[in-house]
Amino acid sequence: MNLARLISESAAKYGDKPAIIFEEKTWTYQEFDLQVQRYALMLDRLGLKQGDRVAVQLPKCIEFLFFHFAILSIGAIALPLNPDYRPEEIVYFLTDSSSSLFVTTSDRFAKVQTTIQHLSDLQILLLEKLSLPESVTSSPEYTLGGDEIAMICYTSGTTGRCKGAAISHRNLIANTKALHQAWQWSDRDVLLHVLPLFHVHGLNVATLGCLYAGATMIMHEKFEPRRVWKTLELEKCTLFMGVPTIYQRLINEWKNLEHKPDLSKMRVFISGSAPLSDRQFYQFENLTNFRILERYGMTETGMNASNHIDSAHRKAKSVGFPLAGVEVRIVDRHGDDVAIAEVGEVWIRGENVFQGYWGMPDKTAEAFVNGWFRTGDLGFQDREDGGRLYLVGRAKELIITGGFNVYPKEIENVLESHEAIKESAVIGLPDEDFGEKVVAAIALKEEISIAPEVLIEHCKSRLASYKCPKQIFFVAELPRNAMGKLQKNILAQQILLSRTAVLPSIANSLEYTTPNQPNATTDHIS
Ligand code: AMP
Repeated sequence: MNLARLISESAAKYGDKPAIIFEEKTWTYQEFDLQVQRYALMLDRLGLKQGDRVAVQLPKCIEFLFFHFAILSIGAIALPLNPDYRPEEIVYFLTDSSSSLFVTTSDRFAKVQTTIQHLSDLQILLLEKLSLPESVTSSPEYTLGGDEIAMICYTSGTTGRCKGAAISHRNLIANTKALHQAWQWSDRDVLLHVLPLFHVHGLNVATLGCLYAGATMIMHEKFEPRRVWKTLELEKCTLFMGVPTIYQRLINEWKNLEHKPDLSKMRVFISGSAPLSDRQFYQFENLTNFRILERYGMTETGMNASNHIDSAHRKAKSVGFPLAGVEVRIVDRHGDDVAIAEVGEVWIRGENVFQGYWGMPDKTAEAFVNGWFRTGDLGFQDREDGGRLYLVGRAKELIITGGFNVYPKEIENVLESHEAIKESAVIGLPDEDFGEKVVAAIALKEEISIAPEVLIEHCKSRLASYKCPKQIFFVAELPRNAMGKLQKNILAQQILLSRTAVLPSIANSLEYTTPNQPNATTDHIS
């Protein structure tokens, strides 16, 4: 099955029903489908063929979606690109994917034009100059489907070259159906969509979920907390999806609302893409009476696990249980299953798992072991709670200090339980004695100042001393990417630089040595 056909079948079923409302303009299912068909015909007339790559760098707009489904419907491969990417990044993605067509806006093209002019086989299509056919006489053939590639999504990549995750029609359909079941989507649902469209969260989880269910999606171009609260009430929304940064801003804004919104139609608030702290979970519940449903996924696999749709079975800090059709293992560095409740790397198998990294057979081979995908995430399962999954961080972010493993998230949770701290990030810095030493970057709540010693004492009273930060850096804010994901590599660079020159974001720091460092050498993940 071709994914675009699946969505077109939904359109045929829901005809006059509003599919998408983007900034006050409504597109019914029928209108949406017709537009997709017009775009598909336009692509066909441009000579696009099955398997050709089409890179789309557009701001959040309805045309992005028309292009996306049109590309899939003719059997071509969609490459959604972050509208913030700079010319050097764009040229990399276009070259790496050997794209045949680049869809963008005039202003973006003006910036990238000279950098990409050597790509002689690349056609350019500007949003402002589309030439759409007036009518379509026949619907697309929906060629290709199943294991054929539907999309290449470049991973947010914290180190090295970004890798293009090749995702098949089957991967997307399997995941959409699993989420449909897990979150009990129905055609009565109204989703408020404030996420970017170039990322799997906003595109595959939110948009596909909605269109497959025959629900209605209210799409805002930008995330504005006050507007979200207002819209949820006004439009009688039933679903909302966000990343933790979005939830934090909603929490902050709630306090400023003169009128607290009526959320009686809401079914579920869903969070993912980055860890939701227990403080955010409980604060949101205290304010709104809703327990956020946290789920876990990644570009390469789509969604892997989710908390229960019944809120009584949701737990803070847990990403829930594997979705239908998804198998999870937690393994040590030899690839053996760890003992109950031990931390190891999360491995995933299922129809949701991508086909490999585009043009990188070696990276693909490294990423798989006997059909299991190595996520690079560290986690553990609570066998007494039915295998409930918890994540503790990325394997690459694990700190090994004096031979001991330190999972940054554990320390961040302790730090963030202190009322002065808005957010924190714990990383390891090279250290002669200990290999790595634990340091924390901390953003304080506004108008609060506090001595670093107090925060270190706060940790020492709750954590073994080897886990406690030896140095604290106060920062105005932590570096995050467009999905609200913390960029610890950038933070580490800032901190290392600040040793020689104080960066504006690093206001103050303190070296603090904890006595009695351990010198044990046990370890099972590195
Ligand atoms: P991306 O491919 O950009 O979606 O990033 C995927 C990564 O985001 C995963 O491998 C996890 O490290 C992280 N992630 C996604 N959801 C969660 C979650 N609920 N809690 C913690 N980390 C998450």
